[in-house]
Amino acid sequence: MIAQVTAEYILAASILSADFLCLGDSIREAEEAGADWIHIDVMDGHFVPNLSLGPAVVEACRRATRLPLDVHLMVDRPDHLLEAFARSGSTYLTVHVEACPDIHRTLGTIRALGLKPGIALNPGTPASAIFQTAGEVDLIRVMAVNSGFAGQDFIPSVLEKVEVTRSWRTSGRTSAWIQVDGGIKPSTVAMAARAGADAFAVATAVFQHPAGIRAGIQDLRDALARA
Ligand code: ZN
Repeated sequence: MIAQVTAEYILAASILSADFLCLGDSIREAEEAGADWIHIDVMDGHFVPNLSLGPAVVEACRRATRLPLDVHLMVDRPDHLLEAFARSGSTYLTVHVEACPDIHRTLGTIRALGLKPGIALNPGTPASAIFQTAGEVDLIRVMAVNSGFAGQDFIPSVLEKVEVTRSWRTSGRTSAWIQVDGGIKPSTVAMAARAGADAFAVATAVFQHPAGIRAGIQDLRDALARA
């Protein structure tokens, strides 16, 4: 089965670096500039040291855009929250393999709620940790920074995991998008694409670009065209 490919590369604009005072305007600007998905980082202050936002903000984003909402749960044992994120209008709902003691059941619940399940792995987690569940997800998220904060530097050694997971797709083990999240900017987006990624979550390089959101997305598209 071929993944739900609608564009050669998926750019998911991560609101973690957006101005929350005018979040709706920023999301609409990203959509008009050609962002494919809106990426929403949910942090629990436990699995990761930071706190961010919850289902109410996802629901507000849902009203601001028709783009798919790519919700990333950096939450320990998130099972009790899945239904709330389904109700709030999530499209993709990704959990961390490190945070779910019964990952198979968690992914099944997400699917049963009508969402597209994703699985994420931190930089220190080997690709083998998701080998058994790769066929059950629509998205594999390879973290290129330690989860929790925007604006961190890209860890190049994670590209090996991008190559491995891409090879699983080539061999038919999974049809998931291979997404890299963390430290993505024009120089690193090209590296990730060459390693086999076809989706990218980008916060600072879009929402904090000195020339604006449109320029941020265009710079990334230009880099991908040259990758
Ligand atoms: Zn994320």
